[in-house]
Amino acid sequence: MTNERVFNFSAGPSVMPEEALLEAQKNLLNYKGSGMSVMEMSHRSPAFAEIFSSTQEKLRKALSVPDSHEILFLQGGATLQFAAIPMNLSSGGVTDYAVTGNFSNKAAKEAVKYCSVHIAASTAPEHNRIPKQEELNLSPDAAYFYYCANNTIYGTEWQYVPETKAPLVCDMSSDILSQPVDVSRFGMIYAGAQKNMAPAGLTVVIIDKTLAGKELPFTPQIMSYKTMIDSGSMLNTPPCWCIYMLGLTLDWLLANGGVTWMEQLKRERAKKVYDFLDNSSFYRAHALPDSRSDMNVTFRTGSAELDASFVKEAAQRGLVNLKGHKIAGGMRASLYNAMPMKGVDTLVEFMKEFERSHV
Ligand SMILES: *Cc1c(COP(=O)(O)O)cnc(C)c1O
Repeated sequence: MTNERVFNFSAGPSVMPEEALLEAQKNLLNYKGSGMSVMEMSHRSPAFAEIFSSTQEKLRKALSVPDSHEILFLQGGATLQFAAIPMNLSSGGVTDYAVTGNFSNKAAKEAVKYCSVHIAASTAPEHNRIPKQEELNLSPDAAYFYYCANNTIYGTEWQYVPETKAPLVCDMSSDILSQPVDVSRFGMIYAGAQKNMAPAGLTVVIIDKTLAGKELPFTPQIMSYKTMIDSGSMLNTPPCWCIYMLGLTLDWLLANGGVTWMEQLKRERAKKVYDFLDNSSFYRAHALPDSRSDMNVTFRTGSAELDASFVKEAAQRGLVNLKGHKIAGGMRASLYNAMPMKGVDTLVEFMKEFERSHV
């Protein structure tokens, strides 16, 4: 039990900006004189239409999304996109996948049902690095090249955008809005909202409109990008509350300097932890230095018992959810956009103390 907010290092759903939560709280019972909360509104009402379009505009601004690309607000999580992508974009042909962690592996396995999957690169089983451009074994006729920008479980992150002839399809679930991206280089970017943007239940898809409309005939309507573009993401009820919360997160981000501000901040946050890890012989970072994620820092002590004590004692200090994913073990500190610098400083302080008292 605590009466204070903790530092929440959860990999997802994750910490949200306090400013966004307070704004939501302020409007919870009566949104702008409507007499109701956003949760209770018709998705076709003028009040919600304004929330929807302004959130779309703010996202377009934050990521400098060009007019060639549509922004969709969908449901089903990132996981539904593992199937929607090959259904809509493969035409049943050859597709290239870079498998650099759990989620890209899952995406490739799902895609096998709908198209011919060629593994263009794999870092299994360690998944402690990102392949170099020269290592990508690209098919000459791939419908798209698929990769996951940040590997949430293993803590590695692509430091470059691959060069491919095929359109790039990228899962940015765990690093979207953490740095500028040249959206025009991508056929499609998508992200589950619950890491860096909003509560769980919303999936953002940013897609080059020319790629839509070639879905396989059995594609469910709700998974068709063309249908969703044509209906303005409102074929059915969209995740209204999550869209509203994304808008509030974007207000916070844009008011503070947008993704260039966030890029500086995320580098600074991650560097503090990695610098400490590199100077310690007690802890070991999982990812190789040139492949490290700024969003999910994975490390361990070398003893499963000590790792467990670390997680437990950290929680007693208000540093929660530091346990690594079960397939990777060890610890994982997720330093998403809304993680305050004080959380990082307190974590590093605790790591020092824990080392001192356990060597
Ligand atoms: C969390 C995560 C997913 C899975 O997201 P869901 O919304 O739970 O389906 C996929 N990819 C990445 C990179 C993730 O971090």
